[in-house]
Amino acid sequence: MRIQKFDNINFKDHHLVGLVWPVVSSRTGEAYKVQMTDYGFSCNCTAGSIRGKCKHAKQIADLLTQDDWKAPVDLF
Ligand SMILES: [Zn+2]
Repeated sequence: MRIQKFDNINFKDHHLVGLVWPVVSSRTGEAYKVQMTDYGFSCNCTAGSIRGKCKHAKQIADLLTQDDWKAPVDLF
C-alpha cells in the first residue's frame, strides 16, 4: 500500500487520520477504501497500491479542500 500525498493537505495530526472513506468506482462499480494516515492517503485499488496515485484519493482530497466542505453523508 503506497501513500499518496497532497500538498494542500497537512496530514500530520490531521483530525481525520485513521478514517476510511469507501469510494465506489463509477467505471467498474467496485468499492475501494481510501484511508487517511499521518503521511497521506492510502487506497487499496491497483493504481493506488502499485503507482501510489489514484483518483479515489484525489477525490477525497478534493472533498476535504473544498471551501464549503460539509460532511458528505452519502459517503459514509
Ligand atoms: Zn484508488
